[in-house]
Amino acid sequence: MTRIAAIGECMIEMAPTGPAGLYRMGFAGDTLNTAWYLRQLLPAADRIDYVTAVGRDAASDQMLDFLRGADLGVDHIARSSDRTVGLYMIQLQDGERSFSYWRGQSAARTLADDPAALTEALSGADLAVFSGITLAILPPAGREALLEALAELRGRGGTIVFDPNLRPRLWASPSEMTGAITRAAAVSDIALPSHEDEAAWFGDADPEATAARYAGSGVGCVIVKNGPGPVLARVAGVQTWHETQAVETVVDTTAAGDSFNAGYLAAQLQGRSIDEAVAAAAGLAGRVIRSHGALVPIA
Ligand code: ADP
Repeated sequence: MTRIAAIGECMIEMAPTGPAGLYRMGFAGDTLNTAWYLRQLLPAADRIDYVTAVGRDAASDQMLDFLRGADLGVDHIARSSDRTVGLYMIQLQDGERSFSYWRGQSAARTLADDPAALTEALSGADLAVFSGITLAILPPAGREALLEALAELRGRGGTIVFDPNLRPRLWASPSEMTGAITRAAAVSDIALPSHEDEAAWFGDADPEATAARYAGSGVGCVIVKNGPGPVLARVAGVQTWHETQAVETVVDTTAAGDSFNAGYLAAQLQGRSIDEAVAAAAGLAGRVIRSHGALVPIA
């Protein structure tokens, strides 16, 4: 049995349903999306916990019900008395989607406030998944506590998986973001960056440069996503390219990278080759972007 802990923020999603002013409530968030897809892909025998913090209000209760319903473990979710969960709303304007966020005071920002509880939450995990967004929402002390807990887990033989998911708006400055991302890479075994973002904020000339930079931080396995372009894998210093199948009608790219991560990790945990794992990852992402929303049923 593999025990997985995904750490981050799950938000309420309000998505337009068609008639003006009517929205459907759902739940999403980068590491949550990855955990949700991992749950679909891995045998029920594997345990997948979502590690976050929520409030004590009805909306938080509903989020916990959603997580339980998705068969994700909620035992390590802290509850904050004076905060609630974050929310985002999708607006459709002339066919273009835009997002508005209410997450500045979300409970998830306190998920690392109690370092002992965080260490306990990760103590039983074989594999931990976190992202640049997980880091971005934490106060500096929480960021330190998380990186320490991950380093400790890694020291005990756990595998640390990191998606940099660069979101400059969540950071005080680009240099704070790139500094924290580089420190996170230093505690990670697997990194799953997207080249376009990395090029914009780290100045990488090509996917090889992205892979080399993460490898230089000590990441043994770097998988560089690149939209519809080929995926570059750099594993123990060996680089291989993997074509992705073209998707003719892209409906919504939300969670492309998150589902890719789940597809890759599930295949790797099942002992598949790098080529098979990247093919499974790109195949899943390709399916997800043909439908609306972050969480697309794949059964
Ligand atoms: P992110 O969503 O994190 O920005 P990418 O845009 O690089 O990540 O996309 C992640 C993965 O989704 C890609 O590696 C690819 O497998 C798939 N993907 C994204 N856009 C397309 C596309 N237009 N056609 C086919 N596959 C795509």
